Amino acid sequence: MKRFGPLDVKVPAVGQGTWNLEQDDRGEAIAALRRGLDLGLTHVDTAEMYGNGEVEEMVAEAIAGRRDEVFLVSKVLPGNASRNGAIAACERSLKRLRTDRLDCYLLHWPGHHPLEETLAGFEDLRSKGSIRSYGVSNFDEALLQRAVAIAGEGRIACNQVLYHLEERHADAALLPLCEKLGVALVGYSPFGSGSFPSAQTRGGRALAEVARAHGATARQVALAFLIRRPSLFAIPKSARVSHTEENAGALKLRLSEAELAKIDAAFPVRRRRELPTL
Ligand code: NAP
Repeated sequence: MKRFGPLDVKVPAVGQGTWNLEQDDRGEAIAALRRGLDLGLTHVDTAEMYGNGEVEEMVAEAIAGRRDEVFLVSKVLPGNASRNGAIAACERSLKRLRTDRLDCYLLHWPGHHPLEETLAGFEDLRSKGSIRSYGVSNFDEALLQRAVAIAGEGRIACNQVLYHLEERHADAALLPLCEKLGVALVGYSPFGSGSFPSAQTRGGRALAEVARAHGATARQVALAFLIRRPSLFAIPKSARVSHTEENAGALKLRLSEAELAKIDAAFPVRRRRELPTL
């Protein structure tokens, strides 16, 4: 568990994503989420967009009776993110999630509504207790700086961005900026959204070697690398109990500096012209 950005709450470094969960076997997916909670993966990431609200309803089922264990995050679509639109969207999400509050509410990606408006809506929601905190997603350095300038220091809890071993753009400048601003960096698609490095590649071999030394798996090593700094969180999505159990194993894994350096060298940082997204 570690501090989530500027918040006075502890959140596990590995959580659970839920994108596309409506396409999986419903019973198994909900069982996987519940197993994840048992194993400490209590940061649950969802969005009004996922399955057009259906995924929030699945999350409601998974967290029923266990709301207080969960750090529950949802996201407003940019098109809904006017001041009043964000408030209404949040109320709909709360209804689908069958709860009275979110722990963090994110703008899913930058849109056409002025950021001042969206953030004012988030502040309204915070004052009335519908959300405990708020943040952004898919914000590059300039936008993140703007968000912090508008909201004030200590307000933007996190920036959720694409971050996996083969897409380490965030390491170049965004991560140092998040650390300077005290904003958590939540990495989405930590397994490349289904394209995890194969064991035949240089990177895959490096992961396997480190994994062997710990009696761990390559995916556990990947997650441990992606959460190696206090500011980093990862939210792998799994719709199977066995996958979730494997992912939770990463919470116990501690990599040495030499192992981190080996993985760093096998998956070099490539800075893109723009923030990569999915
Ligand atoms: P991901 O977590 O990188 O990968 C998910 C895939 O990996 C699924 O096919 C899953 O299979 C598989 N998997 C998970 N654990 C596994 C294991 N231990 N062994 C083998 N396969 C495993 O992809 P993602 O869903 O794109 O990203 C994670 C979460 O980030 C999303 O669900 C969402 O909550 C968030 N996200 C946010 C944004 C944004 O714009 N803010 C964008 C994309 C994603 P099964 O499902 O069959 O278990």
